[in-house]
Amino acid sequence: AFDVLIIGGGPAGAAAAVYAARKGIRTGVAAERFGGQVNDTLAIENYISVLETDGPKFAAALEAHTRAYDVDIMNLQRAEKLIPAAQPGGLVEVQLANGGSLKAKTVILSTGARWRNVNVPGEAEYKNKGVAYCPHCDGPLFKGKRVSVIGGGNSGIEAAIDLAGLVAHVTVVEFADQLKADAVLVKKLHSLPNVTVITNAQTTEITGANGKVNGLSYKDRATGAEHHVELEGVFVQIGLVPNTEWLKGTVELSKFGEILVDAKGQTNLPGVFAAGDCTTVPYKQIVIAAGAGATAALSAFDHLIRN
Ligand code: FAD
Repeated sequence: AFDVLIIGGGPAGAAAAVYAARKGIRTGVAAERFGGQVNDTLAIENYISVLETDGPKFAAALEAHTRAYDVDIMNLQRAEKLIPAAQPGGLVEVQLANGGSLKAKTVILSTGARWRNVNVPGEAEYKNKGVAYCPHCDGPLFKGKRVSVIGGGNSGIEAAIDLAGLVAHVTVVEFADQLKADAVLVKKLHSLPNVTVITNAQTTEITGANGKVNGLSYKDRATGAEHHVELEGVFVQIGLVPNTEWLKGTVELSKFGEILVDAKGQTNLPGVFAAGDCTTVPYKQIVIAAGAGATAALSAFDHLIRN
């Protein structure tokens, strides 16, 4: 059995693995795709001490750093079920999609999250070529340009307010007949001079030319009329979905499906910790996930020496 078994090999899982291995304990990582979301990222400019890198390079560095230690990396392995320890101090079991099963004294869940797509023509084609999901990450790339934010919930309106300070103009496109964000955010949004809000609007296409976004088409749901807005960027803000479906019923989750953790990364199950985008941690970023992974590994080690 492993001392620490980490499920997920993104920044959180890799950091947890390095921290655990450096304690000289038996460490394993099972990941569907080592590197995680970072694999899909173009430029990374906010990982402190690294001025600029790109996703694949960062993912390769995560793996190289993890492989420099005695860590059992099981890549391309999807966890399907977690079975808590039968008695205090017992082993936690994780069952894999390939039929195998892993046992460990402690488990760190770091399965990350995925952005919900709008699923319209152009979204996949222009991803990272004008279609973006993270305003903290990609906002500065659109300095002085025109962008749209799809989604009028809290994350969409926060993104619109944030982007309005950087870009020339923001068009918010909301499917429902009114914005769903908190009133204080909506009030702030309406106070900004360079924002247009369009409600009752169904995005039908993200258009582009020469490999770059050049606009967004939407249907007015009241009249059925089609409209087109010219712009250079589209931020899709209709939800970040944690990869925790497989934990439902065993680990305590928030109403958004995030694993509930305390400041030490402890879940409701003894010996089971969690870190990164799959948890209730505020703000989903690489540097934050890596820090949370380190925290979870140190907490797991603390648990081991006390049990
Ligand atoms: P993830 O990176 O999501 O990794 C999750 C891991 O778990 C993966 O290995 C995955 O394969 C695995 N996994 C999932 N389910 C299972 C399962 N059932 N069994 C086994 N393994 C599983 N952040 C920044 O700080 N700066 C940026 O510039 C930036 N740009 C971004 C651009 C894009 C396009 C995207 C999508 C995100 C960006 N982010 C950026 C956010 C950042 O990538 C995430 O915050 C970070 O990767 C979270 O790390 P994580 O380890 O928690 O999860």
